[in-house]
Amino acid sequence: MHKVIIIGSGCAGLTAAIYAARADLHPLVLDGYEPGGQLSLTTMVENFPGFPDGILGPELIENSRKQAQRFGAEFQSGAVTSVDLSRTPFTVVAGKETYETQSLIIAAGASARMLGIESERHLLGHGVSTCATCDGFFFRGKDIIVVGGGDTAMEEATFLTKFAKKVTLLHRRNEFRATKIMLDRAHANEKIEFLTPYVIEEVHDVNSKSVEKVRIRNTDTNVTSEIETSGVFVAIGHDPNTKLFKGQLAMDENGYLITHDGPKTNIEGVFAAGDVQDHHYRQAITAAGSGCMAAIEAERFLERHRG
Ligand code: NDP
Repeated sequence: MHKVIIIGSGCAGLTAAIYAARADLHPLVLDGYEPGGQLSLTTMVENFPGFPDGILGPELIENSRKQAQRFGAEFQSGAVTSVDLSRTPFTVVAGKETYETQSLIIAAGASARMLGIESERHLLGHGVSTCATCDGFFFRGKDIIVVGGGDTAMEEATFLTKFAKKVTLLHRRNEFRATKIMLDRAHANEKIEFLTPYVIEEVHDVNSKSVEKVRIRNTDTNVTSEIETSGVFVAIGHDPNTKLFKGQLAMDENGYLITHDGPKTNIEGVFAAGDVQDHHYRQAITAAGSGCMAAIEAERFLERHRG
C-alpha cells in the first residue's frame, strides 16, 4: 500500500515527488508514455528562475528527478493502463503491476498535437517547435511559419511578431476556428501574413538538422510549392492525457481535469497538477508550482485520514 502515487514525470510530477518525498511519504512515480514530459522534448529553457544562463530541458528534468530520488521517491517506468477511483484505497494498473494507494496525484500532462509528418518529428527542437513562449526568442529577425487556425495559433503568431521579421500563418481551411477578437488582432498585425488553404507536406532539411524551407500543398487545388522559412511552430492544439479518467473524474469539454481549491479534483484524495488541468498557462514553472500544491494537499489529506 502506497501513501501517494504520482502519475507522470514531467515538471509537475517531479516537483510533487520532491515535496512528497521530503514529507516522508515515499511517493511512487509512474513515468508514463513520455518520461520527463514536454520539457524533455525542448532544448534551452531560458525562463525557469534560477538559471541565469538557461538550462537544457532534459537536464532540468534529470536534475529534478535526482532531487526527488535523493529524498526517497521511487520511480517505475511504464504507462498506466487503468485506474479505479471508485473506492479507497485507489488502484492503479501499470503494465503487469497493480498498485494500491491512499492518495493519487495526476500529473500526466498534455501532448501537443503534431502534424504527423516524419520530417517534423526529426526537426522538433531544431527549428520545429510547439511552444512560442519557450522558443520564440531563438527566431529574432527570422521568417517563421505558424500552423493552425484556432486561438492558440493566433496567440502564438501574435506573440512571435515580437521576435520574427515576418510570421506566416498557415491554415488548412479558409475559415478559422479562432475567436473573432483573436483573429482580428492577428489580422491587424502588419507582421502577420495569412496563407490559406494550405497544409505542410514536408519540412526541410532533416540532414542539416535545421529548418530551411517547407513544401506546402493548396488543399483546394492540390498544387504544391515551396517556401523558405527558419522555423515552424505547430499550434494545432493540445490533448490532455486524461482518457484513463473518463467517467471517474470531472473534466471540461476538451478533456482537461477540473480542479477546485488549487489541485483538488471531484474525488477526495485525488489531486491534479500541471497541464492535465491547465490549458491556460502551460509553463514549466506553473506546472512545477501546481505539483508542489498537489503534494502539500496530499500530505494534509493523509494527515486528516491517518489511522
Ligand atoms: P483548436 O482545437 O481550437 O484549434 C486547432 C486548430 O488547428 C484548428 O484550426 C484546426 O483546423 C487545426 N488543426 C488541427 N489538426 C490539424 C492538422 N492535423 N493539420 C493542420 N491543422 C490542424 O485548438 P487551440 O489550441 O487553438 O485552442 C484550444 C482551446 O483553448 C480553445 O477553446 C481556445 O479558445 C482556447 N484558447 C484560448 C486562448 C485565449 O483565450 N487567450 C488562447 C489559446 C487557446 P480546423 O479548424 O480545420 O479543424
